Formats: sequence, C-alpha cells, structure tokens
Amino acid sequence: MTADWRVSAVCRTVDPELFFPPGESSTAIQKAQAICRTCPVIVECAREVLDMARSGVHGVWAGQYFGTTTQGRDTAHERLAAVADSSTTPRRKGDAERDLRLAQIERMISWGWTTPEMAEELKVSKRQIERDRALIRWRAGRESVAS
Ligand code: SF4
Repeated sequence: MTADWRVSAVCRTVDPELFFPPGESSTAIQKAQAICRTCPVIVECAREVLDMARSGVHGVWAGQYFGTTTQGRDTAHERLAAVADSSTTPRRKGDAERDLRLAQIERMISWGWTTPEMAEELKVSKRQIERDRALIRWRAGRESVAS
C-alpha cells in the first residue's frame, strides 16, 4: 500500500459523524467499528493514528474507540498497535502527527468546516491549516494525474 492509502478508506464514503458516536453509545460505536472492519486500509490507518492515540485522538479509528475520558484508552491503544503490526510491511517513518492532522482536516473539509474552525479544533494556527489544505489539494491533484 502506498502513501495514497487514504483514497481507499471506507470512511470517505460514509457520513463522517458515524466515527464520533454521540453520547458514547455502544451501539453507535459498534456500527463504526463494523465499518472499519470492512476497510482495506485498516492497517495503514492504525499506523497513522498509533503515535497520537494515547492523547490526541477521539472517536473510532482503525476499529478502535477512543472516548473523551482516559477509560479504556490503554486497551484501545494496545489493540490499535496489534492492528498496526498485523502486516509485514515496514512501518512508515515520518511525520505521523502531520499525517494524522491531514486526515482530520480532510474529514473536516468534507463536513464543510472553515479554516478558523479547524484551527481552533486542532489547536494550530490558521496559517498551518492553509498549508495543510494546500498539501491536500496538491496530493489530490497528483492522484488525479496519476489515474
Ligand atoms: S479503518 Fe481507518 S480509514 Fe478505514 S474506515 Fe476505519 S477510520 Fe476510516
């Protein structure tokens, strides 16, 4: 799988809100987890999220649920690590934090969020969001040229 694995992510084709279950509903969490289990890039997703999972992630990622409290986070993190290690492909080195932020921004763009809203949510500058959006556009353009 290449760095362009996100184009195969199942969550791009469904309502993104499904991955942020309201009220920590177990039924809603299981529904999102079931979607992740069908995703062909679950291993790549787990690797991307792994480094941030202990502190900065909320919602369902790679089939694991990270709530708003610390409860269950260690278990979810261990399972996430197991998913990430479930392939023989070497773990990609690089800026995992940036790539996670790019994935979050892509989701927020699909929800219609503005740059200031994203900057506030992700606790980065608006300038950083603009740079990230430019990178996302550049990657999308590269993908369309390649296909
Ligand atoms: S495994 Fe990751 S990329 Fe795939 S649907 Fe779940 S959150 Fe999205």
